[in-house]
Amino acid sequence: MPKNDNIYNCYAPPAEEFVRGEGVYLYTENGDKYLDFIAGIAVNGLGHNHPALVGALTEQAGKLWHLSNMFKVQDQIKLAEKYCAASFADKVFFTNSGAEAVECAMKTARRCQFVEGHPERYEILTSKGAFHGRTFATINAGGNPKYLEGFGPELPGFINLPFGDFEAIKNAISDKTAAILLEPVQGEGGVRALPVQFLKDVRALCDEHGLLLIYDEVQSGAGRTGKLFAHQWADGQADPDVMAVAKGMGGGFPMGACLATERAAEGMVVGTHGSTYGGGPLAMAVASAAFDELTNPELMANVNKIANFMTQQFERLQQDHPEVVEDVRGKGLLIGMKLKKKALDVRNLARAHKLLAGNAGDNVLRMAPPLIISEDNVRDAVAILDQVFTEAKSMDDFDG
Ligand SMILES: *Cc1c(COP(=O)(O)O)cnc(C)c1O
Repeated sequence: MPKNDNIYNCYAPPAEEFVRGEGVYLYTENGDKYLDFIAGIAVNGLGHNHPALVGALTEQAGKLWHLSNMFKVQDQIKLAEKYCAASFADKVFFTNSGAEAVECAMKTARRCQFVEGHPERYEILTSKGAFHGRTFATINAGGNPKYLEGFGPELPGFINLPFGDFEAIKNAISDKTAAILLEPVQGEGGVRALPVQFLKDVRALCDEHGLLLIYDEVQSGAGRTGKLFAHQWADGQADPDVMAVAKGMGGGFPMGACLATERAAEGMVVGTHGSTYGGGPLAMAVASAAFDELTNPELMANVNKIANFMTQQFERLQQDHPEVVEDVRGKGLLIGMKLKKKALDVRNLARAHKLLAGNAGDNVLRMAPPLIISEDNVRDAVAILDQVFTEAKSMDDFDG
């Protein structure tokens, strides 16, 4: 195993090293097989080594890698058209990551207020437990003290409010407010879904006060909840003005996008924003192939079917292991279990049993399996979790 001495110590990877992936499985050098229920943190929605994505990437690799946005990237124009046809949006800016997509979304919202004659409206109302990325602006938007510590003064212009508290949002609106930023389903913050009615109410509030509604669907988008974007469960009654996507939209190739209405994007004229790599030919080729797969109604039907099955099975696990599992939460195939034992230790135990899961805030075991999973894959995972929870009974109770 190579030593890790020259890598920043920001990550704590386990000993297992994966060299190959196929569908919902990852393999180590010596052939050990793991069931992947975290999928690169909701990125490999189509599983590993998907033939359509591999085909798109290898074909493009032999043609053209990079142009910069000095020149037209044909696939960028085509993919933006597809995104807009499938969503509320009229305009798209392509990025390389989720954090950059959120940055673009926040800039778009402020700029919209600016060009509409309200430069004093720059504040963005955000939620506790939110996660929007690791850049300066996005750690300030997220407001997680752990991610802000030691990085200098906090940026002005963000108000971090209790999660899902409509009254708090209403009371925080002032003549400085530009926008409200929400994750329809918080991933990192503990796999917490906002009710559809809440999104509708916030939409109405934004309309009433001339605010922009920004969604961060970096994790909840890309078909994860059984619709292309989670807010689409509101049937067009809670559409945002601006939205950040990434993760699963690239199927494992780094890419993201900021989607906006014509009005919201009106201020984003030549020279206001840019990216060297964003929307490059390789990313666009893979993301186009991923988009076509993700918008296949059969895949979405599978997500909804499996998500129901998985939720039922997890609720049964909760009944069978009341000393370990406190609740089951989330939406679609973004499912969490709040645990009474330390979720990090339980995740490691699952890993030792060759099931890969993640963690989230609020002591949650987080699962975001590839959207292509079958009921049999879920049965296998449940059998492993049954064993893991049985073993976890002897652990000390989690105490914060
Ligand atoms: C992962 C994530 C981000 C950041 O994406 P990166 O690609 O890591 O920059 C932003 N918002 C949400 C909701 C995420 O889950």
